[in-house]
Amino acid sequence: MTPLPQPVPATATPASNDTLIQKAKSHLLQNYKQQPIVLVKGRGTRVWDADGREYLDLIGGVATCALGHCHPEVVAAAHAQLDSLWHVSNAFYSQPQIDLAAKLSEWSGLPRAFFCNSGAEANEALLKLARKVMKDRGMPERFEVITFERSFHGRTLATVTATGQPKYHAGFEPLPAGFQHVPYGDLDAVRAAVKPTTAAILVEPIQGEGGVRQAPPGFLKGLRTLCDEKGLLLLVDEIQTGMGRTGIPFGFMREGILPDAISMAKALGNGLPIGAMLCRDEVGASLSPGSHGSTFGGNLVAAAAANAVLDVIRRPGFLEEVTAKGAWFLGRLREIQGRLPAGRVVEVRGQGLLVGLEMDRDAPQVLAKLREGGVLGNAAGDRTVRFAPPFTITREELDQSLAIIERVLAAL
Ligand SMILES: *Cc1c(COP(=O)(O)O)cnc(C)c1O
Repeated sequence: MTPLPQPVPATATPASNDTLIQKAKSHLLQNYKQQPIVLVKGRGTRVWDADGREYLDLIGGVATCALGHCHPEVVAAAHAQLDSLWHVSNAFYSQPQIDLAAKLSEWSGLPRAFFCNSGAEANEALLKLARKVMKDRGMPERFEVITFERSFHGRTLATVTATGQPKYHAGFEPLPAGFQHVPYGDLDAVRAAVKPTTAAILVEPIQGEGGVRQAPPGFLKGLRTLCDEKGLLLLVDEIQTGMGRTGIPFGFMREGILPDAISMAKALGNGLPIGAMLCRDEVGASLSPGSHGSTFGGNLVAAAAANAVLDVIRRPGFLEEVTAKGAWFLGRLREIQGRLPAGRVVEVRGQGLLVGLEMDRDAPQVLAKLREGGVLGNAAGDRTVRFAPPFTITREELDQSLAIIERVLAAL
């Protein structure tokens, strides 16, 4: 193959954080609260900013770069696909998508896959599936979906309405009909909320964005039983918890249940945009030819990367390591909590490598100090600092991170 031309640098002199951020403030929509650094390079757990400063990246694009930045096997798979075929319409078959569907089906126990580009889109597919299944079952009156307070399901109109956080709704009313929020973890409240119009329950195994809050043991199992009793679909949002983040392939598996359908995205492409909805055969049949689709869904480069991601995560012993490192990290964080002034860290929560530190103050000010110390995290809710380090993080990197975290939190 002929060598590719060398890329031309965008600017003659490398831009600094400050000059780039100034430009950003003039031209980017100001819809994000952005930390004031421009990240230009990443390898494994480490990233560098435009001024050349190095950081331990304990957030990885919010639980997305689960194998770290530029994982060699994922890079190789994406490169190979870039050199052969980038994209075809879903009016045709393509092998990376077929292979990925087969792997995900086998791994999740849900035999049908639909591919899209993001988490919100995967959840949209769940919501459309629920409505269509009820229509096909001759119960068109059932269209409502029960979701949970503090949940997070995305930013499209439907998924933001599913999201149980009023701050994300403000200003966008009227919101689409058909959503009801009940307290997370409260089975009685869910049971009481079920109406003749209810079609489905949508739940996260751990509320990531809502502050890394775990459902009490038995909650998902209770929801499964309730759904079976009432003829509802159980939809599980595995966008943040899936792909091994909590030490097992998908969060629902901890309760030994099988949902009717799940959504995933974040870690699936290790940073290339890809999402998926996986479902049971019987409900999947409702999304019949022409009923749903996406132009870019299952893009070949993203799907090739995702295949490589799955091959790495599914290696024997890999997730056991995630569990062990996660438990060790949580344990050390609890020890640090004990050495700090009482109440500074209100609670250390998490499972596997999804960790939240609920602080006695707003998360952004803590995150700024951590960044200055060389550790990147992000906020989950107002006062929770979230860490979702790559599964490939080493013990040394965890140790270094913990030393910085302790020093920074002690000096607050
Ligand atoms: C991130 C996230 C989403 C939204 O995903 P996008 O790719 O940003 O649309 C939905 N649900 C959960 C649980 C998430 O963590």
